[in-house]
Amino acid sequence: MRIVMLGAPGAGKGTQAKKLIEKYKIPQISTGDILRQSVAEGTPLGKEAKSYMDKGELVPDKVVLGLVEERLKQGDCGKGFILDGFPRNTAQAEALDGMLSKINMPLQLAVSVDVPFEDLMKRLTGRRTCRSCGQMYNVHFSPSKTGGKCDKCGGELYQRDDDREETIRKRLQVYESQTAPLIGYYSGKGIVRRIPGTGSIDDIFGKITAEIEKIK
Ligand code: AMP
Repeated sequence: MRIVMLGAPGAGKGTQAKKLIEKYKIPQISTGDILRQSVAEGTPLGKEAKSYMDKGELVPDKVVLGLVEERLKQGDCGKGFILDGFPRNTAQAEALDGMLSKINMPLQLAVSVDVPFEDLMKRLTGRRTCRSCGQMYNVHFSPSKTGGKCDKCGGELYQRDDDREETIRKRLQVYESQTAPLIGYYSGKGIVRRIPGTGSIDDIFGKITAEIEKIK
């Protein structure tokens, strides 16, 4: 099963991808997570990436494509994968098609999680993540019961550096101009399924899995 999750920052792609990996036991490849890890480790790549991420801009394609190519070579991707936050523009989508056709594993589904633009800002400014286990919360919609700590593991909750208002505006602009056109790109290949991203997490998950079951 080879799936791409599309949708604006804050649409809930990551949340849904995490539920999909639990259900289908295939890896989630989140370029944002990989980049944040490189930033946290202070690697040269992480240092380069941080300057773009802090501004809400895309990290250069060359860097991201290298990371994805390496990740796809790992054995756990043999059964399939869920790409989350990649591709982000047409050049990345074309490069991905090239990589996957070489290994005869074309994409099967591009799920677009659609959320009205006005809702995204509130979702992103309210977003908090557990430093230890990655569990996500939202101070407006789904706060942790214990305040600043994770309900699951007690870890510290933090706000991502790029979830601040000015950076969010830029990220949403970048999404509209560079990433949203991918819906047309994958529609042309007949693999897009558009899912409303409003409603409960479980309802949205149900709609996504219904589409996945059709391709299995
Ligand atoms: P995300 O967690 O997917 O919202 O990504 C956070 C930030 O990481 C983005 O605003 C970009 O700066 C960078 N990033 C993540 N994925 C990509 C990608 N596929 N191409 C370029 N930059 C990316």
